[in-house]
Amino acid sequence: MVSPATDRPDAPLVQALPWLKQPLVQALASARSHALLVQGPAGVGQFDLALLLAQAWLCENRQADGSACGDCASCHLFLSHTHPDFLLLLPDALREQLGWALDADVGRDGEPKASKTKPSREIKIDAVRAMLSFSQATSARGRAKVVVVYPAEALNTVAANALLKTLEEPAGLLRFVLASSAPQALLPTIRSRCQPLPLGLPERAASLTWLKQQGVEGAEVLLDAAGGRPQEARDWFEAGLRAAAWQQLPQRVARGEAQALTDWPQPRAIDALQRLCHDLIRRSHGAAPSYFPAEALPTPKLSAPLHSWDEALRRAARHAEHPLNAGLLMESLVAQGQQALRDAMPRRT
Ligand SMILES: [Zn+2]
Repeated sequence: MVSPATDRPDAPLVQALPWLKQPLVQALASARSHALLVQGPAGVGQFDLALLLAQAWLCENRQADGSACGDCASCHLFLSHTHPDFLLLLPDALREQLGWALDADVGRDGEPKASKTKPSREIKIDAVRAMLSFSQATSARGRAKVVVVYPAEALNTVAANALLKTLEEPAGLLRFVLASSAPQALLPTIRSRCQPLPLGLPERAASLTWLKQQGVEGAEVLLDAAGGRPQEARDWFEAGLRAAAWQQLPQRVARGEAQALTDWPQPRAIDALQRLCHDLIRRSHGAAPSYFPAEALPTPKLSAPLHSWDEALRRAARHAEHPLNAGLLMESLVAQGQQALRDAMPRRT
């Protein structure tokens, strides 16, 4: 690890997610375009990298490597979410989770206000209109103006088209960072106006160190369960998933125990079954599993029931946010898994 040319410590956000340091410095050095598109798997810090880039461009006392100092007036404004030259486009459904709730969302007691409508998962035209007036205003501190769009695939079509023009001819000091784990879902015209900035999985050792610092027990198992994505592993742990429960899942499905999954949010339960099915298919081909420890998995024959389970899980995943009857669906999916495992070689104990 190359130490920075100054003896100033890294800003807090880089300290919090140390694997972002190198991609950040590289991005700052190689940014040629006024619009960057951070892309790669979710759960590895895309949003954080976008914020780090924004903070660095706005910082008034940058480090030698280009990153933000964390201590100037601009950094203080940025870190307190009140920087006048920064605008964040985020779906309402993500604001609270990411720590960017609007004052209007919080009641006098500091608790989130109960709302009758479900917060939107889309970035809508109103947000882009606000961005358009932001883009036309003069920079308050004279250094830059930065818009972060996360996740960029949440822009609905009308909003994406409205963004396009500004992305094409940004005024003055305006810069953009879009971040997306599904860049193929963006309008091609949006993609082509951005400089791509790939962000891959961090090294396993770095992820494990970080997970342990976060107090995640069974970090090795949960990191594999999350496909090597440290933030996702942390989120699963915080949502109550434990390494032991993950390791027991294959056997419980083989016994047809749908209650193994009934406490989980539906999309996560379907996701877990898809990972199990994926690993079983790999096993049946003699390949190493991706998400489960090999010793936790039976070895099924590649069979028609295994394929139809795979199909059923894909269909369920497409409708995971709107299940007709969550309990029945889960029972049916687990029963199909049990069927697929009927002829499996039992685990040696
Ligand atoms: Zn600064």
